[in-house]
Amino acid sequence: MHAATVKTLAPLARAALGLALVFAPMVVAAMENPHVAPRAQAPAVERLLAQLAAKPPLPVRKELVWSGADIDGDGAPDFANPTGAAPRGHDEFGDGNFGARRDGGSRDHEGVDYVAVAGQAVKAPISGYVTKIGYAYAGYSDLKFVEITNPALGYVARAFYVTPGVEVGETVRLGQIIGHDQSLQKHYPGITDHVHLEVMQPGGERVNATALIVRKLVTEA
Ligand SMILES: [Zn+2]
Repeated sequence: MHAATVKTLAPLARAALGLALVFAPMVVAAMENPHVAPRAQAPAVERLLAQLAAKPPLPVRKELVWSGADIDGDGAPDFANPTGAAPRGHDEFGDGNFGARRDGGSRDHEGVDYVAVAGQAVKAPISGYVTKIGYAYAGYSDLKFVEITNPALGYVARAFYVTPGVEVGETVRLGQIIGHDQSLQKHYPGITDHVHLEVMQPGGERVNATALIVRKLVTEA
């Protein structure tokens, strides 16, 4: 019995040793020569390993993407992140979240600040048409906002600190570029540049945009 087992195993062991002797120098050569891709040098090793691994599950890529709420239930998002970046955290000028303290607590922050790079494209946070292009601060003509109204949903959104690329009356679709981010450094030196987004629900009350624009984990096969 013992002898028979040895006889049966011996050819396999010899084959394995043979493979190791044949391929090991190729692998070592590939590792030692940075100018030659290992893939090009040892395709047979890769094939062998792939067979031995008996087809493990394919690696899946998981990615966090900004996803807008589907408020009317038609299966499509109705809101979009205007900059593609996260809301502004804390800096020496305050916090970027909805309801954050402003002016020493005398008023609340009525929007959400989405971090931006000055000059970057700003996307329409809702579909609709441009109902207003205004000045962010009375007395300053450089910082502007774009207001979009969606009559079907009853929502209104204002994106602040945007050089408009659209005109009043123009129809815009969700995610369309409506302009470019304006630097705030002249007004607030050191502040995190951002797009201040205000969302008004039907009836006009301002709501927290982070409840409507969330990060979702997407899996790609
Ligand atoms: Zn703000």
